[in-house]
Amino acid sequence: MTETNFKTELDADGILSVVWDMPGRSMNVLSADAILELSGLVDRVIAEEAVKGVVISSGKKAFSGGADLTMLEGIGRLYAREKAQNGEAAAAGVVFEESRKLSQLYRRIETSGKPWAIALHGVCLGGAFELALACHWRVAANDASTRVGLPEVKVGLFPGAGGTTRVARMLPPQDALQMLMKGEQIRPDKARGMRLVDEVAPKDEIVDRAKAWLKGTPKAVKPWDEKGFKLPGGPVWSKPGFMTFPPANAIYRRETQDNYPAIRAMLQVVFDGLQLPMDLALTVESRHFAKVLRSPEAAAMIRTLFVSMQELNKGARRPAGVPEAAIRKVGIVGAGFMGAGVGYVSAQAGLEVVLVDRDQEAADKGKEFARKLISDQVAKGRATGADRDALLGRITATPDYAALSDCDLVIEAVFEDPKVKAEVIAKVEAVLKDGATFASNTSTLPISGLAKASKRPEHFVGIHFFSPVEKMLLVEVIEGEQTGDRALAAALDYVRAIKKTPIVVKDSRGFFANRCVIAYMLEGHLLLTEGVPAAMVENVAKQAGMPVGPLSLNDEVALDLGLKIVNATKAQLGPDAVNPAQEKLLRTLVETEGRLGRKNRKGFYDYPEGGKKSLWPGLADLQETKLDPEALDVTEIRHRLLVTQALEAARTVEEGVITDVREADVGAILGFGFAPFTGGPLSWIDGMGPKAFVALAEGLAAKHGPRFAPNALLKDLAAKDDTFYGRFAPTKAPAEAA
Ligand code: NAD
Repeated sequence: MTETNFKTELDADGILSVVWDMPGRSMNVLSADAILELSGLVDRVIAEEAVKGVVISSGKKAFSGGADLTMLEGIGRLYAREKAQNGEAAAAGVVFEESRKLSQLYRRIETSGKPWAIALHGVCLGGAFELALACHWRVAANDASTRVGLPEVKVGLFPGAGGTTRVARMLPPQDALQMLMKGEQIRPDKARGMRLVDEVAPKDEIVDRAKAWLKGTPKAVKPWDEKGFKLPGGPVWSKPGFMTFPPANAIYRRETQDNYPAIRAMLQVVFDGLQLPMDLALTVESRHFAKVLRSPEAAAMIRTLFVSMQELNKGARRPAGVPEAAIRKVGIVGAGFMGAGVGYVSAQAGLEVVLVDRDQEAADKGKEFARKLISDQVAKGRATGADRDALLGRITATPDYAALSDCDLVIEAVFEDPKVKAEVIAKVEAVLKDGATFASNTSTLPISGLAKASKRPEHFVGIHFFSPVEKMLLVEVIEGEQTGDRALAAALDYVRAIKKTPIVVKDSRGFFANRCVIAYMLEGHLLLTEGVPAAMVENVAKQAGMPVGPLSLNDEVALDLGLKIVNATKAQLGPDAVNPAQEKLLRTLVETEGRLGRKNRKGFYDYPEGGKKSLWPGLADLQETKLDPEALDVTEIRHRLLVTQALEAARTVEEGVITDVREADVGAILGFGFAPFTGGPLSWIDGMGPKAFVALAEGLAAKHGPRFAPNALLKDLAAKDDTFYGRFAPTKAPAEAA
């Protein structure tokens, strides 16, 4: 048998070492050929008398990120083809057989009669961790980069290669459900505590530990394959079972609003599987997995949250032929709310940081913010004291612009005032070295306008962060009219270095994400002024799949900022550019009631000290009409809240603000949480078909006004039965592991 992906060596004790090390890839991935080779290897282990036990490890920096999700996307295409040729039932059968192959392979490992140990270091996720769970013994490295977990739910799937069924038999059901529903990456010591791994050891000892286990008295039979096996949490039909499954259902509904078929299926698999013998339980898991794999939610989430995101992270939008910008030192001018966050994430990524503000005290305040964040990490055991000292050692806080002279990139995050920014640009350029990039973090001022203050506009670019910087994964990179390829590439290389996802946006008012967010908040305000109860506005938004309601979101952003934007829009575009009902609402809240949002504990919600927020009862008094909630059309409200955002996203494509459809979808989910199960606003439109979307929008426009009128691009797609991803098919970059 040729060994391409797995290198084997049999030692004198009959231990077969299997080192997974795929050629030409930085990460091991369960691709079709890797699975085939592993299958051949299992046959060999079973057949060869000389092999007494197996230890699997990885030859790469990490174990494996899991299955090649593009392969699973291929199963979706197979289904469509089979369905067209042989009908629904036959197609479903083919998908079932295809999608259970990995599960069957892992079961063969588990029941091979020979002990399999696995030594894990770096990430071991998804299908790779399901392999580990099928082995009889697991050891994980105790270093900072090692993580295990089953993150399938994050891309609209659930662990379908036996992972769901095994975890449910290894942990008490509450813990199993929590782990499976959250899809978190788990640190080695926690995994050991949960008994997901048997031992934790220094990285250079893990293979030896596995061998030592094999040379002892290894057991090659799993507890559930032995007579008298008892589930760790007791039977399903028991008091503890009753205390687990009905609440689990309720938690599922609360957390997902029943928008995620994969999670619902997973609950079913656990509940049914625990009442069945192992092989039957695995078949039930495979049946549900095959069905979920065919769901539009899985297809949309895999495409946006795995394939597209990975392509963007790998520099899909980077201008070709520009050498990688070696960004080692970053200057940040304005160490306030945003600048301090940017300084922290940059230092966290190992870059040298210079934080400049108007005086030493203000600059120090920015550094203090980093101290607080990293100290919190230390307190939680996620970083060491040495990590903290090293990170703080990388940050220099000073009022002296001369300290920026050897920076590769300088980002300004000073007040949102063109005059202040122009002064800062001049002061920075006076000291900046040749070829360095200057970036502005402005959220409302056009980059091309700011670049007029620059003597080197080809090196001027927008790098727009979202708050809180340390949590938000999206960064908009804004191309001004004169931004050159080198500056664009440098911005993208920097975003990659700090491990965030960039989207490239053409210069325009509000760029991309904020435009959609503003449309969403406007709809929330209008629903309220029309007389829809505030609680209903918020709850229906969550049912639609948004992480927070529009009123709650506005409180986070600040109501006075909302009013400021309304005022600025009116000043720049005329009185017709703002909605009078919204203006009145915001003016009353801010100017009459002094309600500014979360920042002064009074917005659409009240924020009592130490207590839970609740909607401000006074909102009802601001409503001139009060509609009967029982008589309201919930579906229509849901549509209004999503359609308004999707229309705005479609406008950005028509205007050329967004030039790559992947970026609209990834940007919308990472930037403002647009209903992730849809795969993003453009995927949502494509999913229902532009024709249906145009009809939906036109219906809303007739009833609620021209803000719902579909643009020419949408109408053209509808007329030609085309889609966004059909017409603007992005160039594919090779994708790796999940
Ligand atoms: P902030 O008021 O918290 O911070 C601004 C900082 O700039 C202050 O520390 C101030 O002392 C400093 N500063 C002002 N003039 C300076 C000068 N001449 N030289 C050096 N330092 C100077 O404001 P912020 O919320 O951090 O916003 C900063 C920028 O980031 C703005 O352009 C804003 O539009 C943008 N932005 C803000 C958010 C947000 O959510 N707050 C999000 C994205 C982008």
